[in-house]
Amino acid sequence: MLREDVIAYPSPKAFCKSIINEKILDVTRKAKYLILELTNEKRLIFHLRLSGTMVLAPLPAEPEKFSRLVLKLDDVQLLFKEPRVLGRAYLIKAGEMPSNLKGFYNLGCEPISEDFDAAYLRQKIKHRKARIKSLLLDQHICAGMGNIYSDEALFRAGIRPLRKAYRITNKEIPRLIKALKEVIHEGIANFGTSVSDYRRTDGQDGNFQNFLCVYGREDAPCRKCGTKIVLKKIGNRSTRYCPKCQK
Ligand SMILES: [Zn+2]
Repeated sequence: MLREDVIAYPSPKAFCKSIINEKILDVTRKAKYLILELTNEKRLIFHLRLSGTMVLAPLPAEPEKFSRLVLKLDDVQLLFKEPRVLGRAYLIKAGEMPSNLKGFYNLGCEPISEDFDAAYLRQKIKHRKARIKSLLLDQHICAGMGNIYSDEALFRAGIRPLRKAYRITNKEIPRLIKALKEVIHEGIANFGTSVSDYRRTDGQDGNFQNFLCVYGREDAPCRKCGTKIVLKKIGNRSTRYCPKCQK
């Protein structure tokens, strides 16, 4: 352990003690959480947040820069790297639901999952007066959705981020869902979006920033119609859109 404060549950001492001799049986992911299923029904959950990554490194090399937690496996070490030290690790035994991990248990559907369909999204937004952009960033509705991908999806769907959610029509909902799924799939195919500290696990930059239509393009001409892209704050998040293409 290099930074005690990344261990959010249980205490750092109990965490280190109860992880000894456990095996990793499976690795899954939901939104920005990486889940390692361990023996004895324990789960090790990493909340990666914006800049957390997991990196395999040979033993016995010194942990790399920004390593916050080191798991020594049989012949390699697994490093939890987090430049901003916002990411957290939790070690959960069967039946435990620590209150500081509520965000994980309350996650909604991921837009790329099959369950994220028109019926699901309509149900979540139909009576909501909040702006559609804010609801796309709500992790109870769109698990894993972030600022870049929500702006890009709204551009593709031709929906203005400032629209009140309940005003999104039944015709627009499938368009929005298609756009959300597309931007995420394209983001993955291009190894993610490197606009600040995000890097691939091999340290290289992702590519998706080169395909963005609105994010980071304020005052630049819209790729469809040439109108200047507008920058506005919505719920404290900077939001970009084309005032002509997005109604
Ligand atoms: Zn436009």
